[in-house]
Amino acid sequence: MIYNFLGSTGIKVSKLCYGSLTLGPMQADLSVSEGSELICSAYDLGVNFIDTAQSYGTYRYIRESLKRIDRSKFVIFTKTYAYTRAQAEEALKEALAETGTDYIDGFMLHEQESEHTLRGHFEASEYFLEMKEKGYIRAFGISTHNVAGVKGAVKSGYVDVIHPLFNKASLGIGDGDSNLMYEAIIDAKSRGIGVYSMKPLGGGNLIDSYEEAMKYVIEKEYIDSVAVGMQSKEEIFANVQMFERGYIDSSLKQKLKSVNRKLIISDWCIGCGKCAQRCQYKAISLIEGKAVVDHEKCILCTYCAKECADFCIKVI
Ligand code: SF4
Ligand code: SF4
Repeated sequence: MIYNFLGSTGIKVSKLCYGSLTLGPMQADLSVSEGSELICSAYDLGVNFIDTAQSYGTYRYIRESLKRIDRSKFVIFTKTYAYTRAQAEEALKEALAETGTDYIDGFMLHEQESEHTLRGHFEASEYFLEMKEKGYIRAFGISTHNVAGVKGAVKSGYVDVIHPLFNKASLGIGDGDSNLMYEAIIDAKSRGIGVYSMKPLGGGNLIDSYEEAMKYVIEKEYIDSVAVGMQSKEEIFANVQMFERGYIDSSLKQKLKSVNRKLIISDWCIGCGKCAQRCQYKAISLIEGKAVVDHEKCILCTYCAKECADFCIKVI
């Protein structure tokens, strides 16, 4: 496995990062032992880096995994939508308590789409920067689907790590394409900011050209690490092979092709439309009083699922 430093943070991470959204209640909803078994299997194969979020419901898997993994050798990055100081404090407390650790490697503001949204979260940013000084977190960052989010983070001068959406087909980039995103990433890296990207397969839409899509991201020298959601040992083996040697065994290729995650909306949907309003990709429409998803537009970010008070939305 290749390891890189996340910019100038001094935090060394595997090029393959475990994207944990796939384990939690909005996706596979694995038991604590099943989820932690997968995290530990990936760790045994060299994956020392996990990406999570306050909204993913996956802290419990990390807590369990840390019974077997040496905390000092494992890197945890999480995210929050907090914008006030009180919300940020609550998010940090929750992350520490639920993962059972006394520091978090990286705390990020979730979905920062421009310098303006980042400015709007100034109180939360200020809190996290103070917590960095006190040693409760090692780095402060943002996640974003937008080129303007990366540029805004660079402009702020206080962001250590950026977690941008990046894939070959530009799927999910809100305000440009992968060339523009990569230009912004290069600029961020040249200023010592760490970069770990997300959604190399565009939420599963690029699974049919898995090797090509992965290679495109892996070979980008300015991307320190790539978060990939994984739900089974086969997916972990395949991704580790891909990151280590640039291709995968044909038997694993077949297995990967059968991984076809999709957003499902249950028939008890009451047609309130909140999910459709939340989806920036316009992938949900209301048809005859029910929400209907356009799978070609959906990148499986699951942001819509959090809007549904009736728990109709899930990725399976
Ligand atoms: S439908 Fe939901 S999961 Fe799909 S892109 Fe829109 S918000 Fe994300
Ligand atoms: S938020 Fe839930 S209930 Fe409302 S339209 Fe969407 S799926 Fe249906």
